[in-house]
Amino acid sequence: MSQSEILSQEFELGFTYTRSTGPVVGRFLTALRDRNIVGIKGSDGAVYVPPMEYDPNTAEELSEFVEVGQAGEVVSWCWVSEPRESHPHDTAFAWAMIKLDGADIPMVHSVRVEREADMKTGMRVKVQWADEPRGHITDIACFVVEGAESPLGAAGMNAKREMITGMEAPIYLKYHFTAGAATSRFLGKVRQGKLVGQRCPSCNNVYIPPRGSCAACGVATEEEVEVADKCTLESFTIVYIPIPNNPIQPPYIIANLIPDGANISFIHLLSECVNEEIHIGQRVQAVWKPEAEWTYAMDNIKYFKPIDEPDVPIEQIGKIPAAGVPAAGAPVTGREG
Ligand SMILES: [Zn+2]
Repeated sequence: MSQSEILSQEFELGFTYTRSTGPVVGRFLTALRDRNIVGIKGSDGAVYVPPMEYDPNTAEELSEFVEVGQAGEVVSWCWVSEPRESHPHDTAFAWAMIKLDGADIPMVHSVRVEREADMKTGMRVKVQWADEPRGHITDIACFVVEGAESPLGAAGMNAKREMITGMEAPIYLKYHFTAGAATSRFLGKVRQGKLVGQRCPSCNNVYIPPRGSCAACGVATEEEVEVADKCTLESFTIVYIPIPNNPIQPPYIIANLIPDGANISFIHLLSECVNEEIHIGQRVQAVWKPEAEWTYAMDNIKYFKPIDEPDVPIEQIGKIPAAGVPAAGAPVTGREG
């Protein structure tokens, strides 16, 4: 990689959130799984679908459930000619406000017709159930024109099964990440098995990974400083709770580590240790993957492991100069400081 090349990559950031539904939404989802639709009566007698826990006008707690029809009228709609990845259908469809028979407030769902010209305000539509309802709003696969063939029909199943009390709500953000000049240079060195930070020309602090500027002084950092892969433990957390999709099995230790020659910590894993014996000020060293596996990523270092060196006193952590490197705040000869 040349010094000027900027790294970028697709990223996905997210997690699957498990939430409890509460009794009102739970009842609605349970009914969907059994191929029924329930609403709730508001304090003015209007029927809301999906049911609301509290009256939107009076904030009164609501509890009178009402089964509504599985067909209704399109009150308004918009056409999606090019569905996105997160949409429920991969061919063109309409989002519509649909007032179900027996309901007073329309609900949002999708309507599938061949062409935009087939959509009309006031048209009658009916539910098309998903093949395998599971207690989710997508149990209604879509709405279709009333009278059209529907392989599963609209009959309720009324199976006596357990109440839906929870659901998984995946929250994922897909984006394209551009590392920027400082981080690209840092990752280029990581690929060569080196940890290279940047020194602030004003306060002399060495940042790793470098951000291209000093957060304290607000000045650009240019001077590159190779630091050791030996570090001092600044703080740590022992993780006991598994994180979905995380390949690392608990318990494991996440630590803030300050490499020799730098003042600012970065986060990495600790291993080859007795978790209960880990302590602040402990000396650790990187365990690198085989060189053939190195990429532009900090997981070129598999983890850090304790080494047989004396602890660093807490007040000295982040202040120890490596050979030839001035301590933070120390006067520097031959340079503005
Ligand atoms: Zn600074």
